[in-house]
Amino acid sequence: MHFQWYPGHMTKARRMMQENIKLIDLVIELVDARIPVSSRNPDIDELGKNKARLILLNKSDLAEERCNDAWMEYFKKKGYSVVKVNSKKGGGIKSIHGVIQEACKEKIERDRKRGILNRPVRAMVVGIPNVGKSTFINALAGKACAKTGNKPGVTKGKQWIRLNKNVELLDTPGILWPKFEDQSVGLKLAYIGSIKDEILNTEELAAKLCEFLNDKYSGILAEKYDIEESDDGFAMLQEIAKSRHCLVKGNEYDTEKAAKLMLDDFRNGRLGRITLEFPDEMDA
Ligand code: GDP
Repeated sequence: MHFQWYPGHMTKARRMMQENIKLIDLVIELVDARIPVSSRNPDIDELGKNKARLILLNKSDLAEERCNDAWMEYFKKKGYSVVKVNSKKGGGIKSIHGVIQEACKEKIERDRKRGILNRPVRAMVVGIPNVGKSTFINALAGKACAKTGNKPGVTKGKQWIRLNKNVELLDTPGILWPKFEDQSVGLKLAYIGSIKDEILNTEELAAKLCEFLNDKYSGILAEKYDIEESDDGFAMLQEIAKSRHCLVKGNEYDTEKAAKLMLDDFRNGRLGRITLEFPDEMDA
């Protein structure tokens, strides 16, 4: 799940993206619904200029519904088509086909005026590692793929997956590397487990997340772990360790174990649906 970026990887990923993007009409960009801006790489706007653009708020099952809707408005105002999806369970996937046609209607109209009829829209999926690109491609195309197997329409060499008569999808997603020069962006990427816990150690990371939750989702930690909440993240980790009997030799509380447990609960949605950034903080 974790990955390490080397400059070579990044250069190669970028070069592949530049090549592939020439072949397509539509960029389908996956972002994590819990951090829709911090999980983007803004370079995609330059790479994908002159292309139709669709943003998918993926893992929307892990984010707060009210915030998902606010983020949809936010991106729509900026001119993107937007859909919230849960690629793991298939939620929102059905509506994608209609949205693709809508997002590409200018291109389809241009084709029509030139007398080109029935040329399928070509699309590619892009996003940072672990955002759910493969899961999404499988959800959208998996069954179609499996069914069509060796039949025409699935041209292995060309790597196009024919979704229906109107849409073809590049089978390999474009990888964007996250941009985390900004401390707060790095923190949020670390909370969701998208970058190695190298920004901060596990305890510091969990302590900070506890403080965020106490501030924005007051009551969640108290209820889950039966602890007293406070604005001191380390104190809350101590409390979690106590309540969950995380002990090390000498009867000390094992706050590292508590930190891992708490981060794991958060990442798997066991603390409930939580959004980590909000549209009204963005353009400030
Ligand atoms: P990729 O690196 O972008 O191709 O990401 P993957 O498709 O490998 O997904 C990374 C992890 O996220 C996997 O454990 C998936 O099961 C999980 N995942 C993907 N989409 C969703 C979603 O919509 N909701 C939830 N809860 N998990 C998801």
